[in-house]
Amino acid sequence: MESLIEKVLISEDEIHKRLDSMALEILTGFDGRPITVVAVLKGALVLVADLFRRLPVKLDIEFVTAQSYYGGTETTGEVKVIGGLPDVKGKSILLVDDILDTGLTMEALKSQLIDAGADSVATCVLLSKVKERAVDVEADYYGFEIGDEFVVGYGLDYTGHYRNLPYIGILKEFGV
Ligand code: 5GP
Ligand code: MG
Repeated sequence: MESLIEKVLISEDEIHKRLDSMALEILTGFDGRPITVVAVLKGALVLVADLFRRLPVKLDIEFVTAQSYYGGTETTGEVKVIGGLPDVKGKSILLVDDILDTGLTMEALKSQLIDAGADSVATCVLLSKVKERAVDVEADYYGFEIGDEFVVGYGLDYTGHYRNLPYIGILKEFGV
């Protein structure tokens, strides 16, 4: 599997170091308020597991499934929430996704959580692609800025695979 990786963009060690400082930023931002983490499956699975163990406050976790990709490397522009939203009424939400690309997923989920009565929604991603977004949304907390290239690993897949790589890498066929 690893032979199909062109290069490691962000190492496991770099990710973990950055998570330490991101967690402190988040704790400062929430200022002691209990946090309801809403993680976007499946991509945010690895990030959220590593991140929420660094948040030693009153915290609960919920999951949503959003689909904006249908097996390829290009977004279809349509975001579907499958299986509905958790009860977020009056809660301070930390919405966690793997990567901010067009922004469509984050924007759709954020506005749905607000419509569902969340008290506040802060957004968090490991990776923020430096590019023009399709919608006006940015992450309140992000780990790394990357170029507009397709990455895998640390939760991010290509056709369902590579999520279990412990680092962020670039596939050979999409290599620079
Ligand atoms: P957006 O809605 O911001 O365009 O995209 C968000 C979703 O698209 C992410 O949750 C992720 O599932 C997928 N995505 C965007 N860019 C990449 C990428 O470079 N690699 C992978 N594996 N998925 C991506
Ligand atoms: Mg995703």
